[in-house]
Amino acid sequence: MSEKKLVAVTGASSGIGAATAQAFSRAGHPVLMMARRVDRMEEMGLDNAVIRKVDVRQREEINAAVAEAEALHGPVDMMFANAGIARLADIGRQPPEEWDEMIDINTKGVLNSVHAVMAGMMARRSGTLVMMSSIAGRKVYPDHTVYCGTKFFVHAVSESLREYLSGYDVRVIVISPGVIETEVLSGVLDAETLANYKANKVKMGGGIGPEHVADLILNAYNLPQKALVQEICLTPTRQTY
Ligand code: NDP
Repeated sequence: MSEKKLVAVTGASSGIGAATAQAFSRAGHPVLMMARRVDRMEEMGLDNAVIRKVDVRQREEINAAVAEAEALHGPVDMMFANAGIARLADIGRQPPEEWDEMIDINTKGVLNSVHAVMAGMMARRSGTLVMMSSIAGRKVYPDHTVYCGTKFFVHAVSESLREYLSGYDVRVIVISPGVIETEVLSGVLDAETLANYKANKVKMGGGIGPEHVADLILNAYNLPQKALVQEICLTPTRQTY
């Protein structure tokens, strides 16, 4: 068993989740990697990785993955509830099925991830929950309506959880990135919204790499349990919206 504690990452098959799994693995932590594309997680070849096919909408799948990883490496000390999709679109023409998908993955998926580890952290009076929101969880955009709703949800739940868990010495960190270069735009199905997003991205000189988010998460985690970075809001320097 590793001396470093077990950490868990949802959405570990690409983008910010993959970069964060990599950063913690490099730092010597066993990492429970969860996503639906197992091949992508396996290709990363991380040391001490426990790879599980998990859809965050399926509570029992997360619970089973956590139980299996904990049997190998001891309790999960950090859960990064990161998995999410961005079906950005003009609400006037967006099919409601896209709302369902975003709400189920970005809100209930985050709660399912938290639920899988929270009781253990409270009992041990130690642990860190890292909650994936967005700059779109701090301000709204007219063509991100439901996506913003899901990220405002994550912000609100995180603020409440932080107060609830503070007496148990469990930390809650919200991550609010701006434009990060990942595969996230593959989830935007509305052509006009995608074109506008890409044009804005060009104007700001492009996004920044997911490894910067990962490094900040690792640094915040490495502070003593007594010290809490409540929110990490990281954007490209030229991003003003
Ligand atoms: P990616 O598309 O690269 O990564 C998304 C990850 O989420 C993938 O690993 C995907 O894995 C996983 N995922 C999606 N749906 C599910 C599901 N139902 N069950 C399990 N895993 C799932 O994008 P990002 O890295 O950018 O996105 C990660 C998070 O960051 C999201 O919550 C996003 O909203 C947020 N974010 C991203 C920003 C950006 O500019 N990139 C800015 C602000 C926030 P798989 O498909 O294999 O299941």
